[in-house]
Amino acid sequence: MRNDLTRNDFTRNDITRNDWMSLADRSLEAGGISRDDARLALAAPEDEAYELLAAARRVRVAKHGNRVRVHVLMNAKQGACPEDCSFCSQSSRFDDSGRRTKLETVESIVAAARHAADNGAWKFCIVTATRGPSDADLDRICAAVREIKRTIPVKVCTSLGLLDDAKAARLAAAGVDRFNHNLETSERIYPTICTTHTWRDRVETVRTARRAGMEICSGGIVGMGETDEDLLDLAFALREVEASSIPVNFLDPRPGTPLGGTGISIRRRLTPLRCLQVLAVFRLIHPAADLRAAGGREMNLRSLQPLCLLAANSIFTEGYLTTPGNRADQDRRMIEDAGFTMEQVAAAPDHVAV
Ligand code: SF4
Repeated sequence: MRNDLTRNDFTRNDITRNDWMSLADRSLEAGGISRDDARLALAAPEDEAYELLAAARRVRVAKHGNRVRVHVLMNAKQGACPEDCSFCSQSSRFDDSGRRTKLETVESIVAAARHAADNGAWKFCIVTATRGPSDADLDRICAAVREIKRTIPVKVCTSLGLLDDAKAARLAAAGVDRFNHNLETSERIYPTICTTHTWRDRVETVRTARRAGMEICSGGIVGMGETDEDLLDLAFALREVEASSIPVNFLDPRPGTPLGGTGISIRRRLTPLRCLQVLAVFRLIHPAADLRAAGGREMNLRSLQPLCLLAANSIFTEGYLTTPGNRADQDRRMIEDAGFTMEQVAAAPDHVAV
């Protein structure tokens, strides 16, 4: 009899579509589902993604209502990165275009933040392609952050590579709300993705940013050859490092990179339903997180993009670091048509409405 089974007795053969909804209760009661439950949900046939999304939606609404946080990225220093992340077209190893830009000026960073806020952004993220920030880069970025926090109603995140305590303290003192540093994937397969630094280096930078008092934004990329166990490793490592913001990216293979070439055929194919299934499972594992349908949303979810809002409570708009995305007005329309509202930030201290 089904009622005689404890939860740990569930197996793939026992669980039915209706059981997926019980994961929502377990997620809300326990602050996230167990690894065993998450494993079953990730292994479900793709056509059960809708039931998993319904469970994820219950959690999303309980924790985040119908609000959507829109994030905007600024690639403030592009290209010529010395690292060798095999998905990234900004690595000097995979980009022979000679592209190299200097760090944007304080004025241009502030102007971009103002543009983002005027378009309804909740958070503005300053990103540089680098192993880690130089002191000179930090001088400029901190000056820009101080000006943004004083005059523009938007949260600020920075993503600047590896940090030490002194650099993290400078960013926190300037008013950075969040620091982004993705764990990207499992520790197990990270050496196949990158050789110039380790997964442990990334965890250490996340911990450094947290010690300095910044919120942690950390997520990963789906579709880089990982197994379900790797995805679970990533999801539960993010719980361990207490990531309050989790961007889930879906690989958009970039020409010239190791993950953009013929190797694509040997990896598990990402379909729109598979992407939604992964997002739903991440929501069930991380009920309170600011969960984001991040890079690769447009090309991987295609016409199912609005459904990501049933699990995720945030998205990027106006593109990514090296690829274009939807325009802000397109995403605003998608959010409103799906019955959600964009979350706003209270006015900055010296904000002047225009
Ligand atoms: S992901 Fe970041 S650190 Fe890695 S190569 Fe690209 S810009 Fe450099």
